Amino acid sequence: MPHVLVLGRIHAAGLALLEARPDLTVELLDGIGEAELIARAPAADAILVRTNRVSGAVIGVAGRLKVVSRHGVGYDNVDLAALDRRGIPLTVVGDVNAVPVAEHAMYLMLALAKRGAAHDRATRAGRWAIRDDFAATELAGKELLLLGFGRIGRAVAVRAQAFGMRVVAYDPYVPAATMAAAGCRAATTLDDSLAAADIVSVHLPLSAETRNIIDASALARMKRSAILVCTARGGLIDEVALAHAIRSRALRGAGLDVFAVEPPPADDPLFCLDEVLLSPHIAALTQECAIRMAEISARNVLAAFDGTLDPALVVNGAAVAAAKR
Ligand code: NAD
Repeated sequence: MPHVLVLGRIHAAGLALLEARPDLTVELLDGIGEAELIARAPAADAILVRTNRVSGAVIGVAGRLKVVSRHGVGYDNVDLAALDRRGIPLTVVGDVNAVPVAEHAMYLMLALAKRGAAHDRATRAGRWAIRDDFAATELAGKELLLLGFGRIGRAVAVRAQAFGMRVVAYDPYVPAATMAAAGCRAATTLDDSLAAADIVSVHLPLSAETRNIIDASALARMKRSAILVCTARGGLIDEVALAHAIRSRALRGAGLDVFAVEPPPADDPLFCLDEVLLSPHIAALTQECAIRMAEISARNVLAAFDGTLDPALVVNGAAVAAAKR
C-alpha cells in the first residue's frame, strides 16, 4: 500500500484528506533531522514537506518515491535536480497563499511607516510626548519597488496601489507590458530602482541567482529614509549588512518574515534594533491559508497517485515528461 510521509505539522484538514483514503497509509514526522529522514525515506511513496530539507541523499534512498508535494510555493529546500533525474514530480500549492503573504507585506510596510511597535510601547509607558516626534510617514505618494513580479508581487501591487503608492517592478522574466497592464512601471536596472524607491518589498525565489541580492552594496544604494520588507526567503538579504545599515541610520527600517537561519539565534543583531519588525515565517500561515495549503498539498499527493496532477502545480513538468520518454 502506498505510504505518505508528512514532514511537519499541517492543518488537520489536509491530513483528513489523506487519512480518508483507505488505499494508503500516512505517517506524520514532526521536527525530525536529516538522518531520521534518510532512515524513513525508503518507505515513502510520497513526501509532503513543509520546511524539512529534502536533499539528494534523501531522494537517493527513496526508491519508491512518486511525488514530493511542497506545502507552499518556494522549493529551495528540495533538491530539484535529484527529482528531475528520476522524473519525479515536485508540486506546489499555486496562488492560494499569494493574498495572505501580500497582506503580510502590507502589514510590515504600514507598521514600519507608522512606527507601530514604538508607539504601542510609548503609549503603555506613558511616553505621550512621542507624538511630537512627527516620525510616522504615509504610504500614499511613495514609490514601492517590488523585487519579483510573480503571484505574490502582483497581489502586493494591487494593494499598494489602493494605498496610493507608485509601483515599480523588477523582474527580468516578466514582460514590461504585463507590468504596465497591472498599472506598474518596469524597473530599468536594479541599481537605479533601488536608489529611487521609498519602500522595497522582496518577492523572489531563493536561487543561486538571487542569493544575497540585497547585499551591502545594494543597501548602500537605497535612500536613508527607505524601508525594506522581505516575506520571501531568508538568504535573499545579507542580514549582517542590513543590521549594520539600520544601526548606522543608512536605512530607516526593515520588516522580515524570513531569515537565513530559522529560527534565528538569540544573539541575532537584528533583535536589538527598534526600527526592525520581525515575524516567524508566518506570512502564509493564516487560519484560512493553513487550511488551503494543507488541502492542496494533500490533494497533489493523491493526484500524483491517481494520475490526475494539475500541470500548473508541477514545478518540473518538462523533466517528468522527458523521463517518461
Ligand atoms: P512566483 O514564482 O509566482 O514569482 C516569483 C517571481 O520572481 C517570478 O515572476 C520570477 O520571474 C521572479 N524572479 C525569479 N528570479 C528572479 C531574479 N533573479 N530577478 C528578478 N526576478 C526574479 O512566486 P510567488 O508565489 O510570488 O512567491 C515568491 C516567493 O515567496 C517564493 O519563492 C517563496 O520563497 C516565498 N514565499 C514565502 C512565504 C512566507 O510564508 N513568508 C509564503 C509563500 C511564498
